[in-house]
Amino acid sequence: MDQTVQTIQHWTDGAAWTGASDRWGEVTNPATGAVTGRVALASRFDADHVIARAEAAAQEWRRTSLAKRTQVMFAFRELLNARKDELAAIITSEHGKVHSDALGEVARGQEVVEFACGMSHLLKGGHSDGVSTGVDVHSTREGLGVVGIISPFNFPAMVPMWFFPIAIGAGNTVVLKPSEKDPSAANWIAALWKEAGLPDGVFNVLHGDKEAVDALLESPVVQSVSFVGSTPIAQYVYENASKAGKRVQALGGAKNHMVVLPDADLDLAADAAVNAGFGSAGERCMAISVLVAVGGVADDLVARIADRTTTLVTGAGAKDSEGGEADMGPLVTRAHRDKVAGYIDSGEEAGAKVVVDGRGVRARGGADGFWLGPTLFDHVTPEMEIYREEIFGPVLSVIRVETYEEALALVNDNAYGNGTAVFTNDGGAAKRFENDVQVGMIGVNVPIPVPVAYYSFGGWKRSLFGDTHAHGVEGVHFFTRGKVVTTRWIDPANRPEGGLNLGFP
Ligand code: NAD
Repeated sequence: MDQTVQTIQHWTDGAAWTGASDRWGEVTNPATGAVTGRVALASRFDADHVIARAEAAAQEWRRTSLAKRTQVMFAFRELLNARKDELAAIITSEHGKVHSDALGEVARGQEVVEFACGMSHLLKGGHSDGVSTGVDVHSTREGLGVVGIISPFNFPAMVPMWFFPIAIGAGNTVVLKPSEKDPSAANWIAALWKEAGLPDGVFNVLHGDKEAVDALLESPVVQSVSFVGSTPIAQYVYENASKAGKRVQALGGAKNHMVVLPDADLDLAADAAVNAGFGSAGERCMAISVLVAVGGVADDLVARIADRTTTLVTGAGAKDSEGGEADMGPLVTRAHRDKVAGYIDSGEEAGAKVVVDGRGVRARGGADGFWLGPTLFDHVTPEMEIYREEIFGPVLSVIRVETYEEALALVNDNAYGNGTAVFTNDGGAAKRFENDVQVGMIGVNVPIPVPVAYYSFGGWKRSLFGDTHAHGVEGVHFFTRGKVVTTRWIDPANRPEGGLNLGFP
């Protein structure tokens, strides 16, 4: 085998572990098309082993003082901050997003680590003195035990970090099952935890596909599952983990609309549409994929967006790329690139106007890279496949409507409800949109309204199965169970009378 092909193993008990499965997946560098790694695909035996190691570490970690757990979290934060460039380079090499964007991903994950550094405050319970004569009540929150995290390819560092800092800070042990398309970030993170002083077995990485996922869903040891990925798999995970009696939060796909009202600043709106539509080659669950142009702004807006796309460089995203880092990298795999290109064919055949066509892009990178340039469709209608389905690529569709009500109905009739944005200078209209729209995360003149770590991230409708969003206080609740303790200590000087009384107290 080629010497440059890395073997990516599981990580458990503080070290890489090969496992017994003979199944392997291929990892590619999307900017060159070259195979750069082979990743272990766990068997049920492998999964059970990793889960058992997480279970073995659980009791001691749960009993480790909050002070010590917090120290480890601070150390992890410092190391991550100092070495984020390395992690960003790994993300770029397997995902394809450009280095500066990968650094942005790490920064948003680091925010959650910083939030989890305050775990001692977040886990504080309440105390009520003298709820009855001589009786006090206090509440506490405790970790669940072993928790499972299953993450998608598009944020190989940030999405796991939405969950594991809080899970670990709250005293749980973690089995992370990253995407098999870009698995190396998870192992780098695991090694960083070890350096930060996390005891072996608290953070584990199980590589694999459906077999590994099913093992996590069915294991009686795993207490909860946090999933992020496409809607059909999110629903599958939600149903099966719930059936096995676990807590589940399963975040799914998206089709995010940006509504531009006639009074909006069209230059800012055009900038936002380009950044949010084509950043990370559209492979973001909060990407804007539909622009709803209201009341005659479309011609002007489409022209401004098209103009801006001509300045974008599609190419390799590594910092040391020839000519420097591009604006937009390749898609994650050849298959995904071809699928997205197929959607562009479908939109054209259905009669949408291709204003900018990314299919023939001349990319600054390897001839075999998975390239597709920014693509802009105008005159898209709701029946078209390119509107109905999540494309997850650099394809922005413009729908023209006459009124605010039509725009709102489009957003609310959509099956997904992850993110949305309204662009306007009218505070009243923005407030009305905020009240009326059935979507979990809303931006007002902000195209990618990803909540900061101390709020919670999550969509509505088919974008989230379960009732708990990621991180923030909802994250702390998800990874802990509450206890309420009612206490009566007998003061010998003031001894209660006692006696039999079978009535409800
Ligand atoms: P995916 O659903 O294909 O994979 C997600 C995870 O599920 C991976 O770990 C994968 O190994 C596993 N998986 C894949 N097929 C499976 C199967 N049949 N059974 C069990 N497990 C399976 O998603 P992806 O392509 O990696 O990621 C892109 C999707 O994730 C998009 O739909 C995007 O919108 C969504 N996403 C959503 C959010 C959000 O917050 N709502 C965030 C990021 C990504």
